Amino acid sequence: DRAFPSAEGATPMMEQFLALRSQAPGDALLFYRMGDFYELFFDDAVRAAAALDIALTKRGEHQGEPIPMCGVPAATAEAYLARLIKAGFKVAVGEQIEDPKAAKARGSKAVVQRAITRIVTPGTLTEDSLLDPRSANRIAALAQLATGENAIAWADISTGEFAVCAVSGDALTAELAAMNPAELLVEESRFCEAAGLLPRTTLTPLPRAKFDVASAERQLKAQFEVQELTAFGDFSKAERAALGALLDYLALSQAGAPAKLSPPRQTREGSVLAIDPATRASLEIDRTLSGDRQGSLLGAIDRTVTAPGARALADRLARPLTDVAAIEARLDAVAWFEREAGLRRQLRDRLKSAGDAERGLSRLLVGRGGPRDLKALSGALQEGEAIAAHLLDARLDRPPQRIADGIAALTLADKPELAALVGDLDRAIVDEPPLLARDGGFVAEGWMPELDETRQLRDASRRIVAGLQQTYAGATGVSSLKVKHNNVLGYFVEVTARHADALMGDDTFIHRQTMANAVRFTTTELAELESKIASAGERALAMEIETFSALRDRVEALAGFIRVATAALAEFDVSSALAEWAEEAGACRPQINDSFTFSVDGGRHPVVERALAKSGEGRFTPNSCQLEGSGENAARLTFVTGPNMAGKSTFLRQNALILMLAQAGCYVPAERAEIGVADRLYSRVGAADDLARGRSTFMAEMIETAAILNQATPRSFVILDEIGRGTATFDGLSIAWAAAEHLHEINRCRALFATHYHELTRLAEDLDAAGNVSLKAKEWKGELVFLHEVGAGAADRSYGIEVARRAGLPRKAISRARSILKRLESDGAPAAALDTLPLFAVAEPEQAPIIEPSEVEKRLDGIDPDTLTPREALDLVYALKSLV
Ligand code: ADP
Repeated sequence: DRAFPSAEGATPMMEQFLALRSQAPGDALLFYRMGDFYELFFDDAVRAAAALDIALTKRGEHQGEPIPMCGVPAATAEAYLARLIKAGFKVAVGEQIEDPKAAKARGSKAVVQRAITRIVTPGTLTEDSLLDPRSANRIAALAQLATGENAIAWADISTGEFAVCAVSGDALTAELAAMNPAELLVEESRFCEAAGLLPRTTLTPLPRAKFDVASAERQLKAQFEVQELTAFGDFSKAERAALGALLDYLALSQAGAPAKLSPPRQTREGSVLAIDPATRASLEIDRTLSGDRQGSLLGAIDRTVTAPGARALADRLARPLTDVAAIEARLDAVAWFEREAGLRRQLRDRLKSAGDAERGLSRLLVGRGGPRDLKALSGALQEGEAIAAHLLDARLDRPPQRIADGIAALTLADKPELAALVGDLDRAIVDEPPLLARDGGFVAEGWMPELDETRQLRDASRRIVAGLQQTYAGATGVSSLKVKHNNVLGYFVEVTARHADALMGDDTFIHRQTMANAVRFTTTELAELESKIASAGERALAMEIETFSALRDRVEALAGFIRVATAALAEFDVSSALAEWAEEAGACRPQINDSFTFSVDGGRHPVVERALAKSGEGRFTPNSCQLEGSGENAARLTFVTGPNMAGKSTFLRQNALILMLAQAGCYVPAERAEIGVADRLYSRVGAADDLARGRSTFMAEMIETAAILNQATPRSFVILDEIGRGTATFDGLSIAWAAAEHLHEINRCRALFATHYHELTRLAEDLDAAGNVSLKAKEWKGELVFLHEVGAGAADRSYGIEVARRAGLPRKAISRARSILKRLESDGAPAAALDTLPLFAVAEPEQAPIIEPSEVEKRLDGIDPDTLTPREALDLVYALKSLV
């Protein structure tokens, strides 16, 4: 909560500032336009100066105190905005909404009228310079009604996507994680619950009234100009509330101008594979745990060549499907491009020049687009048509449905209005237009005869001006005379002070300015030409702007067709890129069905494999995995054992990734794969501390494990790595044991369970659908060699001490560990205790075995070998011998 002073005793300008300040959202900084700068005052200035590392100054006084101020040039404001948004700020932009001349006409003290024209927040950006071209930028609203009904509405105003989904309480987090919005709108009272749910999302609290169902309905009908919402689907109350809150916020952020969005699309929970945020993070799907794209699954498989394609692929990985037919349809498209390798290469070359028409279109629709966006649009649609024709002409295998649909969407022959628009855009706009319409100079010659005439007039006058320099020089005999231009004098004649006299006496030249070493004159002729040029220029610009808005209106009228066409291009990019990757990585088409099978031969981890290949450290060892199904080692629950660093968690993750890729409609890195679709994917891998939420590692691990045991269904797929590690041995073992039994008996899901508790592997004998596999290692010349090979059966011994030795633990500690291990094994303590351990047992307090060092060891402990003489050493050996 930030306080700004009252307006009492304020100057007229400060009064206006404080009025705007009170209209702007409390959590936003106010950019107050003053001429060529945006200025910030009071607390806004203090915060912005710190965040941007710019000078904090003072301007005048208010109520006896100096006013803190800082400012950024309007011309480069976007770069500052980008930094502020990145740093988590929101910015309200207060523009001058009248010509300063008009204000002056009202009186010398009159303040230029200003209004908030936009609120810039992470979820409402459209500028390319503020957006990552390869990721979506969504804003979502979460409605949670008192009835327990929940819904999430989301939009990407940079692409026009607008959708809503009713969600059950259980699935909320997973849905939000899949959507990964840049900004989430929540009801004030739920703010605390939502905080921390999505670490990379800006939360915006809204008053409860914004989620009112009745006003949401009015707003939706008005926005989409329909009598009844049923035109778009049967929306629940929560869905309407979420959609309404989102629309309202977007309108507010555009200062009342409603955002241009597609009609709301209803998606259903359950049609996508649910993946909760912890699983998503630990599988490093679109970024690594440290936040980089490189090293993530997406980073490894992305071969798209366009930004919309990259966004569409990221979306597929974020929301794998569960519907077999829908997955097959995607795979058909990938397979087609895989077979048609030559065509694929040509297509990918062409796609590169298609650009990002999706975001350009949306900028045009929200009124923030420019000539460059129009040109990009026609370029993409022309390229799209050429691509469609090319695919049709190639007379190959009949293309699968999704490709055929794409070709149809891109064919312009049956869409005469769109074809005409594309042709007109192409002819009307020059090849390299400016970003903004108000800069002019973008309408091509030959498009508008009247404009061409005006431009000729302007250019002819300019030529006359250029000619006058010579005329005047001849007439006055001052060969160094120049005709120049500035904003104050317009065109003028300039001579050096030495030559001024030659002009002073001449009636043609009217003296205007004397400078240190130059004197300036105007002439009536120049003044007339000046006004001709200026008025021709003004007329030309007006014509260009008119042309721009006429074309923009036509784009708006056909926006529906254009969106389908740009989506088809993105889809071609995704399918062909996946085929490209499949060929490169030797991935295969998975068989997808509704069974409970998970059967993978020769599976690989796409990221680890790539890292190994890049570093030249060796090859990745493929490993098979059979869960359920009919294979010899088939087991629904498989324990994975083996020494540390042998490859257990790689094996677990690679199978989770293969399942995810398959359901996303991608090929999978394996020789063969048969996968019965899963409804939820869970991963409890690694022990990342959740310090941000103030939970200990062990607590975080238990919360995630609890979620899995409470929610996994027989359709789910679970990987669990080393649970129970963060606590005392008996505690940990009993928890792991109980969790394994729960998975087997109650959840009955497919699960891979990596553990360092070898005692657990005995469970496989008692549980009918459980089995053991292990990662092999062998000793070679006293060294431990990891084969990274998964074989049947449990690992036979723990190599922990060997690994510790390789890690460089002191020799003394290693030999000590060996002797402790020997004693523990001969006492059989943990294993024996387990046989009587009931399900969910409360473990006894840990009794760490305390073993006194032997006399020999005590004696050796006090000796420094380097200080011993040979004689002393020999004596010592005798002494030690006597102690044994
Ligand atoms: P664990 O979970 O058993 O401690 P990891 O799965 O973390 O072991 O693997 C340790 C390292 O071994 C990995 O970083 C990787 O470099 C390598 N590795 C794992 N699996 C394989 C494999 N199948 N082929 C080749 N190298 C592998």
